Amino acid sequence: MLKYVLKYKDLSLTVKKYPVSKRMRLIVHRNGSVTLTCHTRTSKKEIEKFIEINYLWILETVKKNVYLQPVRESFESYDIKDLKKKAALYIPERLGMLARLHNLEYTELSIGSASTKWGSCSRDKRIRISCYVMLLNKEQIDYVLLHELCHLIHFNHSAAFHERLNQMLPGHNEKQLVKEIRKISIPRRK
Ligand SMILES: [Zn+2]
Repeated sequence: MLKYVLKYKDLSLTVKKYPVSKRMRLIVHRNGSVTLTCHTRTSKKEIEKFIEINYLWILETVKKNVYLQPVRESFESYDIKDLKKKAALYIPERLGMLARLHNLEYTELSIGSASTKWGSCSRDKRIRISCYVMLLNKEQIDYVLLHELCHLIHFNHSAAFHERLNQMLPGHNEKQLVKEIRKISIPRRK
């Protein structure tokens, strides 16, 4: 099997060539990565034509897969060390994935333990996320991450900021999400 990464427009696909593949096939994985399988002799031109034909479908499916992941188990009680560990495992990958999806670049990500705000973004594009976001569900975490990513475009909370953010949210439901998140207060540590 021959395997390589092919860049096409905003996409980065893994191409796998097999001597037995009869036709080209696209697979969009749950984490949003895309694989194309084809016969060993399929040319780059044929591959690109196939991707072009399916381009919109790929983008839509990547979006769907990235966003429709199962909601986390609920936290009745938490341990700050545990939250930090969970955040370190989840946030860098997730923020990177959302940034790539929306073609945005930040310079640095740090995970803190602020209990007064979920996240922040500085003018020099450094994003800071509180480990307490791990108390939210995945859709709400995405809201926090997208909110900070959106500050890379608008460094304020103007109408333009909210309009853009709403476009970035898969359900276009910023108001609803904000309402839900506001109800969640970070529990005091015992
Ligand atoms: Zn903000």
